[in-house]
Amino acid sequence: MTDSSTDPLIRMSGVNKHFGDLHVLRDVDLSVARGEVVVVIGPSGSGKSTLCRAINRLEPIDSGEIVFDGVPLPAEGRALARLRSEVGMVFQSFNLFPHRTVLDNVTMGPIRVRKEKPAVARERALALLERVGIANQATKLPGALSGGQQQRAAIARALAMRPKAMLFDEPTSALDPEMVGEVLAVMTDLAAEGMTMVVVTHEMGFARHAANRVIFMADGQLLEDAPPAEFFANPRTERARDFLSKIL
Ligand code: ADP
Ligand code: MG
Repeated sequence: MTDSSTDPLIRMSGVNKHFGDLHVLRDVDLSVARGEVVVVIGPSGSGKSTLCRAINRLEPIDSGEIVFDGVPLPAEGRALARLRSEVGMVFQSFNLFPHRTVLDNVTMGPIRVRKEKPAVARERALALLERVGIANQATKLPGALSGGQQQRAAIARALAMRPKAMLFDEPTSALDPEMVGEVLAVMTDLAAEGMTMVVVTHEMGFARHAANRVIFMADGQLLEDAPPAEFFANPRTERARDFLSKIL
């Protein structure tokens, strides 16, 4: 018998994805262990968002296999809904429901999908908002919050579903510079607490300090996969060296 606690939480093998003639994911193999933090970097258009979206099946793949927590990704139905709740996703645009309070945004998923009792969902939501430092914003509408506060609310909303993994797709790219740090701090805490995370970001400080591995992606391929100290000191491909010279 295999010990499921040592299996990778996410395993992609031979994954290919096209958009028409465009080959966006090319034979992608990627395993993410439980508790591991993987930062994905690479030029715009290299397939980073598609990679993330494939993991919770927002994008179906053309070939290959993706296994999450020992189970091939379900295509539809309740199994797919459960997968989506187990893989939290935070986007560049915060995607909060604008006409519901911050608290409602966090309790909706647990009540509707996980059938939590409203009082229980509310207590947990308040605790999560406390954890991301915006408990005092709970009764406001998202539009009344700063971008950094909205993104922290989006993180609390994803955490409310008790995810086994969190995917972050450029979570700080739309923020004013002074708000980047507060969101990265929440992500750094999550990483330290053992959350399995895949993070697409241009924040190299976060990659250096919070990542177990850095993956460099270009033209749909994973060109490098190394611990951050090794990757930043000694990128092996010309593409990665060129990319780093432009952003650092
Ligand atoms: P990245 O996140 O690294 O910038 P993406 O995964 O968003 O890259 O996109 C990879 C490529 O696929 C880009 O050329 C993009 O224009 C294209 N693409 C992404 N989504 C779609 C789509 N839904 N339809 C057609 N082309 C797409
Ligand atoms: Mg993207």
